[in-house]
Amino acid sequence: MKKIRIGIIGGSGLYSPDFLKNTREEKIYTPFGAPSSNIIIGEIAGVEVAFLPRHGKKHEYPPHKVNYRANIWALKELGVERLISVSAVGSLREDYKPGDFVCTNQFIDMTKKREYTFYDGPVVAHVSMADPFCPELREICLNTAKELGITTHEKGTYVCIEGPRFSTRAESKLWRQFGADIVGMTLVPEVNLAREARMCFLNIAMVTDYDVWAEKPVTAHEVARVMAENTEKVKKLLTSLIPRIPVERKCQCARYLDEALI
Ligand SMILES: [Zn+2]
Repeated sequence: MKKIRIGIIGGSGLYSPDFLKNTREEKIYTPFGAPSSNIIIGEIAGVEVAFLPRHGKKHEYPPHKVNYRANIWALKELGVERLISVSAVGSLREDYKPGDFVCTNQFIDMTKKREYTFYDGPVVAHVSMADPFCPELREICLNTAKELGITTHEKGTYVCIEGPRFSTRAESKLWRQFGADIVGMTLVPEVNLAREARMCFLNIAMVTDYDVWAEKPVTAHEVARVMAENTEKVKKLLTSLIPRIPVERKCQCARYLDEALI
């Protein structure tokens, strides 16, 4: 079977594969059970990609119930080497405004009970996460966003909370003190499992609102409006970005696992 080198995991706001052409579905079995849905394979600007809605086709899996290991395993089975994860986040700083995008470059893990590794023993791996995101993909993403006039912040530390509840005001203020810029519920363990699977990983975080630290009342209507706009923008960004991804990888991403296995 022909390898599909590029994968997209869509989050809140990006469930539908309507930006792909000539789609078909693949049901993939994994040692960890079923992924969030069948994988949808289609084309963007002539490039074949594998798309997976993280929360399922009907948004039936909340962040703490997503089978992250099955999702990454299934994409790996298809040959995915470059993985783009799209997620909705809250902003922890004034200048990261609703409607802006962030090209995440660091994260803080505040999740509590997830399956974090493919290496549960007897084989053990301590994989380096000092630089969690692919520098090649980040550069392509930032250049493309700039050309398209999509406001995208070059850096951002994403604090991943367990959910499904949102943060308290005290927690939200604490995340700011930690140095986090955005808050969400799904980056971990997706990002570290992808590294264990030797994939490049890019996170496009779409700001939907100011988290509760700002004490700015937000209406569900406003959040829905920003989300709809973000969805259109991210489809535009993906459509321009994907054909620019080279087949050959010059980054380190595929090799971290070699240093991790004991
Ligand atoms: Zn890479």
